[in-house]
Amino acid sequence: MKELSGKPIAEKIEQLCIEDVKSLKEKTGQVPYLRVLQYGDDEASKAYVRRIEKNCDKIGIKFEYMIFSDDEQAFIDCLKEANDSKEITSIMVQQPLPDSLKHTLEMINPAKDIEGITSSSLGKLFAGFETLVPCTAKACMEIIDYYDIPLKGQRAVVVGRSNIVGKPVSILLQQKHATVTMCHSRTRDLKWELEQADIIIAAVGRPEMITGEMVGEDTIVIDVGTNFVDGKLLGDVDYDSAKEVASQITPVPGGVGTVTNKVLIRNIVESFKNIVQA
Ligand code: NAP
Repeated sequence: MKELSGKPIAEKIEQLCIEDVKSLKEKTGQVPYLRVLQYGDDEASKAYVRRIEKNCDKIGIKFEYMIFSDDEQAFIDCLKEANDSKEITSIMVQQPLPDSLKHTLEMINPAKDIEGITSSSLGKLFAGFETLVPCTAKACMEIIDYYDIPLKGQRAVVVGRSNIVGKPVSILLQQKHATVTMCHSRTRDLKWELEQADIIIAAVGRPEMITGEMVGEDTIVIDVGTNFVDGKLLGDVDYDSAKEVASQITPVPGGVGTVTNKVLIRNIVESFKNIVQA
């Protein structure tokens, strides 16, 4: 069994971003500028954003974090200002959001939508146009690409159909000529579906739900899951049993998540290029 570490890919993307930002600064006199907006006090969100801040500092990206708690209009105004700003080139709106503010995700200027979550970004992805792609879906593809995993004509089974992971990764796999099956909570016989797979992408959000006995011999397993259980980070795949049958498998931590963080940074650099060089 070969472990598909995300580390070398993350390092490569980071290095390219550092070089890109340096040369863009020399050329334009500007650097990418990210504004993150949060409504409410979600601690997991805060920890996640602080990690992004560290990455931005390392690469030379200007970072701003605005947290609101009791003024929805101020939150909306701050988003509108970021949308229209000539300096701010990337926007992230943190989830969870109260129901009354969920529509603001759709208000993000698509050119600055570094998470690729607006219907404009997703529509372009589905139609096969250039766009900012949801980072985790793209991270799965980076891993597949780096380790030369063939996709043409291969059976890929994606478990999970969310807009940020399952759906976009299914589209990206199809674009590379895989035959894709999407599974979800109403799938009749998940074990049977998984046994047909040459490659499994697990994006469910249920700790270690996919066990070795559900995986066919020599399957390649990409585990997107990040589930905190008793302070420990677990994937959606039971690594210990799956590694006995899989030919290649991503670890958690150290797999998809590690690459996702850097793909997000690269999207910040890409949105800057699109805006400043347009
Ligand atoms: P989500 O929006 O909750 O979607 C979960 C999907 O799993 C849904 O489509 C759901 O089906 C499906 N599902 C739930 N139970 C199932 C079951 N028993 N059998 C088959 N399918 C089932 O989750 P998400 O945002 O896509 O995230 C998925 C996982 O990836 C989570 O662990 C999350 O933490 C992780 N994640 C990791 C990264 C990273 O960087 N590594 C980034 C984002 C997310 P229905 O549609 O039928 O409800």
